[in-house]
Amino acid sequence: MDFGFTEEQDDLRQLVRDIMTKRATDDYLRELDEASEFPYELYDEWVKTGLLALPFPTELGGDAAGIMEFVIVVEEIGRRGYDVSLPYCAPIFNALNIVRHGTVEQLEMFIRPFLAGDIRFSISMSEAEAGSDAGAMRTTAVRNGSDYVLNGAKMWASGAGVKDTYINLYAKTDPEAPAGKGLSLFLIPNDTPGLEINKVHTLGRRMFPTTSIFLDNVRVPAENRIGGENEGWTMMMSGLELERVATSAAYLGNALTVVEEALAYAKTREQFGSPIGSFQAIAHMLADMDTSVEAARLLTYQAAWLVEQGIGDRKRISQAKLFGSETFLDVAQKGLQIMGGMGYSMETPMQRHLRAALGTTITAGTSQIQRQTIAGALGLRPDGGRRRG
Ligand SMILES: Cc1cc2nc3c(=O)[nH]c(=O)nc-3n(C[C@H](O)[C@H](O)[C@H](O)COP(=O)(O)OP(=O)(O)OC[C@H]3O[C@@H](n4cnc5c(N)ncnc54)[C@H](O)[C@@H]3O)c2cc1C
Repeated sequence: MDFGFTEEQDDLRQLVRDIMTKRATDDYLRELDEASEFPYELYDEWVKTGLLALPFPTELGGDAAGIMEFVIVVEEIGRRGYDVSLPYCAPIFNALNIVRHGTVEQLEMFIRPFLAGDIRFSISMSEAEAGSDAGAMRTTAVRNGSDYVLNGAKMWASGAGVKDTYINLYAKTDPEAPAGKGLSLFLIPNDTPGLEINKVHTLGRRMFPTTSIFLDNVRVPAENRIGGENEGWTMMMSGLELERVATSAAYLGNALTVVEEALAYAKTREQFGSPIGSFQAIAHMLADMDTSVEAARLLTYQAAWLVEQGIGDRKRISQAKLFGSETFLDVAQKGLQIMGGMGYSMETPMQRHLRAALGTTITAGTSQIQRQTIAGALGLRPDGGRRRG
């Protein structure tokens, strides 16, 4: 068993830390958060320094880096905030899905321009009536000559309104099929006629703004369908393990920063003639925070190792996601408490960390859904024995 990193991995961590310290300053992040704006300048830097290309095959211009390297990068970006990790991770997850399921022509058409920074990707599965039960979506795509025509309404499509974005949109190509079946995946440029994209204002995660989408006879060429017709569910599920591991790494990065910031404050803020960190109530809170973040770190790295080995252990991956998000939320609440009024004020980043943390137990599979997965792996029937037909 080896808990260490290689020299190359340490160098990679330092590179990302340097880029993020220089470019993602508190002022820059505060402005983006306030304006609900995508970090275009930072994204360009990720393209320029090769960080975006890191997990892609070399024949497509990538670096073919391992899962652990990807996790290191995401954790370091997450140190500046979980919210700023999404503009890095989400486009990559979608692009990797295209690499897994696209044709040679589609890789040329979509992945090369993506790695050059010319186009970006977002994902749209959810609908107002189809959240945790994403397979219940009702947006339709009907073949018409060499095109598909899409109609319906999507909800929570984060990043769909960002410049030069192709929305990875799932729609029903067989409306008679039961929930979860008869779905297909389409890449739709976000300036396609018939699309109406509106920002949805949220408590946090504003640097990859989420949106609602209305589709009114949106025409998409059939060559923009990724994978076979009606095979969308398999595509939606593939890559989920990597996504959960990388997402857990971003929670970890942000949770580490929360502990660092709260600790620094506890050491310098004096009340009753002493640093507040010398009061046992505060010191023990910090001891607990540090301990749970270390536990989250081990679960995340273990999950990364499992995925790297090709061991698809859904239980442990869900445990990393569940514990990582709930730990992040717990330490952010405690961090804000330790900083008192300064934590609650918009002058310090602690409130942004807490707002981001509140979303992590809802997105990428809610905590309840992670517990369903874990309970199922324990041989339980947490659905009360019911199965949808
Ligand atoms: C900020 C933000 C960004 C998002 N970005 C995207 C995106 O880019 N693309 C996209 O497609 N979607 C996105 N989503 C949607 C997200 O995936 C859903 O919000 C999530 O899956 C939960 O669905 P819901 O909100 O409809 O809640 P519901 O599914 O209605 O759940 C409500 C509550 O019921 C619980 N619940 C539901 N089913 C069960 C069950 N079987 N057992 C126990 N409890 C259950 C849930 O855990 C939750 O507590 C985003 C959401 C948010 C808030």
